[in-house]
Amino acid sequence: MERLPKYLHRSQGGLWLTEDERDNLKISYRIKDVLFEEDSPYQHVMILDSHEFGPMLVLDGVVQTTSMDGHIYNEMISHVPMTVHSRPESVLIIGGGDCGVAKEVVKYEEAQRIDMVEIDEAVVRASKQYMPEVSGNLSDNRIRYHYTDGVKFVQDKCEEYDVIIVDSSDPVGPAQMLFELDFYDNLQSALKDDGLMVCQSQSPILHQEVMKQSYERIGSLFPYLGLYTAVVPTYPGGLWSFTIGSKQELPNPDELTFDKDAIYANEDLLRRCFSLPAFLQKLLDEE
Ligand code: SAM
Repeated sequence: MERLPKYLHRSQGGLWLTEDERDNLKISYRIKDVLFEEDSPYQHVMILDSHEFGPMLVLDGVVQTTSMDGHIYNEMISHVPMTVHSRPESVLIIGGGDCGVAKEVVKYEEAQRIDMVEIDEAVVRASKQYMPEVSGNLSDNRIRYHYTDGVKFVQDKCEEYDVIIVDSSDPVGPAQMLFELDFYDNLQSALKDDGLMVCQSQSPILHQEVMKQSYERIGSLFPYLGLYTAVVPTYPGGLWSFTIGSKQELPNPDELTFDKDAIYANEDLLRRCFSLPAFLQKLLDEE
């Protein structure tokens, strides 16, 4: 009998990955080939070549990023905080193993120190080899890779970073702690007195509780709070949220300027991404 990698099944003459989003929602991708598979100490890591989205990073059966739409998420989680901060010289990336965030952050000459803290070295190795469209095959010597738990890494840091970007997986397994109040509190201490943090805060359509909880937790620790969105086709619900907690007042979005080479982001979009749909603004305003 054929041995199929975990999470894959055969149906209608093809190989499929089915992501169990919830009891009543499953999302399936037809797969051309398994490019990489490894059971790391933290999670099951695969790079699958899919028919619709090209190579995809899949952790514990859940799609994290794809060659076709990964740039949307990576550009938006990187360029918004890097543009909102007036001089991001020291940057900490937590998670981000596909290297897509680091690929965007190195576009800023002023970023002299870029620490990337990824728990799982296998994700970085696989992404660099099989997803160069996302990882950019990074060899910039400003990036320091730390293969350790982001929660532990920030525990005793004090006023070291201008910008912290939390590019985490969903709040299960090793990423669960990256959505906790204590973790956000440690990020707050690790930031300089005009620093800011951003995290992916899940789908405003399908994960409203997680999104609202992150927003409220960050809001209880930082004097200035913002939320923006982008549309990422391979994330459940499509519309995705990002939450910013800042120690300095956030600039008027209309005054943001942007001149980096990007596929999705441009100045107009960065200025408009804080404009929220009515239902989402109402949800955030509710006590
Ligand atoms: N963009 C994706 C999304 O929103 O689904 C997530 C990207 S994926 C690169 C997130 C990374 O966070 C994974 O490589 C995972 O290994 C890493 N990660 C999870 N928990 C972590 C932790 N506690 N410390 C550091 N990295 C962690």
